[in-house]
Amino acid sequence: MNESRETLADSSSTPANIRDMTLDEVEQMIATAGERPYRARQILHWLYARGAESFDEMRDLPSSLRQYLKQNFKLGAEALSFVSRSTDGTRKILIRLADGEEIESVIIPSQDRVTLCMSSQVGCALACEFCATARMGLHRNLTAAEMLSQIYAARRELAAGPSRGAAIEDLTNYVFMGMGEPLANYPRLIRTLTIMTADWGMNISPRRITVSTVGLVPMMERLLGEIPVNLAVSLHATTNALRDRLAPINKRYPLEVLLDACRNLPLKRRARITFEYVMLAGVNDSAADARRLVKLLAAMKGKVNLIFYNPLENSPLETSTRAAVEAFQAILRNGNLTATIRESRGLDIAAACGQLYAEQHSPAAN
Ligand code: SAH
Repeated sequence: MNESRETLADSSSTPANIRDMTLDEVEQMIATAGERPYRARQILHWLYARGAESFDEMRDLPSSLRQYLKQNFKLGAEALSFVSRSTDGTRKILIRLADGEEIESVIIPSQDRVTLCMSSQVGCALACEFCATARMGLHRNLTAAEMLSQIYAARRELAAGPSRGAAIEDLTNYVFMGMGEPLANYPRLIRTLTIMTADWGMNISPRRITVSTVGLVPMMERLLGEIPVNLAVSLHATTNALRDRLAPINKRYPLEVLLDACRNLPLKRRARITFEYVMLAGVNDSAADARRLVKLLAAMKGKVNLIFYNPLENSPLETSTRAAVEAFQAILRNGNLTATIRESRGLDIAAACGQLYAEQHSPAAN
């Protein structure tokens, strides 16, 4: 796969979305239009610092340039969004895209932060046994503009009404843990992260962004070389036999390859990889599993996040008891691993981990 030179031309029949473009590209476009280079930053400032929603608002641009932009580019976001609000403050945003596909994002407020859980694809191709999105299969990749539209939709929702009890009313953290495998949509993910973190873009610190991957090894290495975001790796198993079953991509990048790559990633000095581990009763939650995990992650700059499994319909998998999760955590801690437990949020609105699944795609069996 060599998509790094991906261009915007793949949507040739429709006008390019200006929110897909980086500074370089806007500068090139401006040169083509015969305008002065500084206009590029001016346009991006309108878009990302001032939140312009139309080219007409960009009053200090010459009207000929505004005209040119209107004729050749769209700036619009998604078509429609719907919000479900959980009793615990979590809110799920369903966004209908221009072609009718749907994605979900989740706003998760906590004491000191408001996290946006973002989708990177419509559906997913990676077929993890315990994940609802996997059941959709992969419909398509999201464009950068579509990924970013989740941030706008979330900001609109937060501006419309505060979460009960939340002290902070703006997004503080961004996690690519929604629908899809972000590293399977690599060029557009990089484009999205570039726009999110650039000074001409949204100016978000990469330390506030986490990309979660099931372990696409070559892309993990490239990602951290390009943008120093936080990395989370969905591990879930301590043997290849089990991981092959739970996360079939393990057949391509088995545990020893994945963990070796993790050990050699270009991490910033104090950065650590988060290893996500969904707790499945009788499957991966024994004391022996915990001890194996300690061994596997020895000498790793990492920490473990234990996740209660959110049950899927028609699945034999069951979530571990709280006692089992705590016993597992205790073994990790005794082995000198940092291990936290992720509490489920938004269960009542199917917004919890692994529950994102656009309803219209329900299999015929339902
Ligand atoms: N494809 C990426 C990002 C999406 S999944 C990845 O695999 O990391 C984000 C997290 O949700 C992962 O840790 C995944 O294991 C977890 N998850 C998926 N299904 C779940 C379920 N049914 N219950 C709890 N967590 C789940």
